[in-house]
Amino acid sequence: MRIITDTCSECGTVVAANELEAERIMQCPGLSCDAILRFADLPEDARRYFLNHHDEYEL
Ligand SMILES: [Zn+2]
Repeated sequence: MRIITDTCSECGTVVAANELEAERIMQCPGLSCDAILRFADLPEDARRYFLNHHDEYEL
């Protein structure tokens, strides 16, 4: 299974794709960081892979 993550461009906090997918839009979990992270910001190939393997990412 490929690990898909997004990295906040403001603070470098790494967020797992399954969290982003669940929320679609979420505030960065980094301390004192107001950045908004979006599932749609992931690269297209990462999004496609994630959606095609969605069952494997269930927590
Ligand atoms: Zn951040």
